[in-house]
Amino acid sequence: MKKTGVAILGSTGSIGTQALEVIEAHPDHFSLQVLTAHRNANMLIDQALRYMPKCVVIVREDVYEEVNDALVGAGVQVYSGEASLAQVVALEDIDIVLTALVGYAGLTPTLAAIVAKKDIALANKETLVVAGELVTRLARENGVNIYPVDSEHSAIFQCLLGEQLTAIEKIYLTASGGPFRGWSKDALQNVTPQQALKHPNWSMGAKITIDSASLMNKGFEVIEAKWLFNLRPDQIDVIVHPQSIVHSLVQFQDGSIKAQMGLPDMKLPIQFALACPERVKNDFPRFNFMDYPQLTFEKPDRGTFRNLDLAYEAMELGGTAACALNAANEVTVQAFLELKIGFLQVGEINEKVMRASNFVQSPVYEDYLAVDKEARNMAGLFCSVGEIKGQEG
Ligand code: NAD
Ligand code: MG
Repeated sequence: MKKTGVAILGSTGSIGTQALEVIEAHPDHFSLQVLTAHRNANMLIDQALRYMPKCVVIVREDVYEEVNDALVGAGVQVYSGEASLAQVVALEDIDIVLTALVGYAGLTPTLAAIVAKKDIALANKETLVVAGELVTRLARENGVNIYPVDSEHSAIFQCLLGEQLTAIEKIYLTASGGPFRGWSKDALQNVTPQQALKHPNWSMGAKITIDSASLMNKGFEVIEAKWLFNLRPDQIDVIVHPQSIVHSLVQFQDGSIKAQMGLPDMKLPIQFALACPERVKNDFPRFNFMDYPQLTFEKPDRGTFRNLDLAYEAMELGGTAACALNAANEVTVQAFLELKIGFLQVGEINEKVMRASNFVQSPVYEDYLAVDKEARNMAGLFCSVGEIKGQEG
């Protein structure tokens, strides 16, 4: 059997390290070609010496020498700089690119991988939020498959195997509700990043953990689902399921509902995306019904967690609306983590920026870049005003 050549963009993160575990457990299935990281030189060096990819990219140029000195003797090629990400994805022996890097930075290398006709295992949902129309159109034109890694979308994808997309009536994306499920706006006023970073069911990178607490993550997943499965906004619903066992559901036009279930463990959707359509045997812990005598479902609190409706609005507007929302959110989440703004301001500033940003109905690549930049600047200004206010009060 020919091994699948894998490139991991963002190998030092939560998804990246779990993907390496999956690949290590199946050396007969996968061959690792490329690893990349933003600035964690030590971890990237350790990973490269252990897994011996053809090359690595360390994005931050100030640590290039450190990485190169450590790997040159081992025969691993080292590159640096953002532009290198978009180049290494085209290497010949790569069959699939796992986009496990966080945020807007995923867009350009993902587009480059698609143009190079590499399949995509997509964890970086921001890419589809920012430019879903462009990304999915280029994938179609280049005959490239986009396999979802996000657990909800992997669930939908698994439910759809053997089905027709046209038979979907609607889908339900499940949401854990995050650490603040059931909290009032008043109670959320003074929550700290430490509280927001404590997700009840999943251990993930900081940005997506904050997005989960604010329901921005679920909003982004709604947009992600629209592009992956070609759905209308009214076909996508969100249901809160605090146990995170039912990963999502599809309702078909005959009323039948299929769900995909399992313990909350990203290694399964990562493995399925990399090995699809094969179901590879593994020794991940198995679900036991007796540990979960109750699976419960409830409505999301859209009044308190405004980000969810904002994402629906961005999806209805189309064009560059979601690109502006994503840019604002990357800035506000960082500002919240740095204690510059409060938790509720994340959603408030996101909304202001989305409404005030330049809007392009039928954008090309350059329009996304321009709207992203403008929205970031605007969000930065709003955050600094918030900071001054916070100091006064
Ligand atoms: P993380 O913060 O743990 O890791 C991010 C990785 O991206 C690191 O390797 C880092 O070096 C790299 N990176 C960060 N900024 C970069 C930049 N500007 N340029 C290049 N590389 C950069 O994040 P994560 O939790 O692994 O999430 C990664 C992506 O997967 C996100 O888009 C997230 O929404 C998505 N996702 C994550 C999970 C999860 O369980 N962690 C689940 C579903 C989807
Ligand atoms: Mg998810």
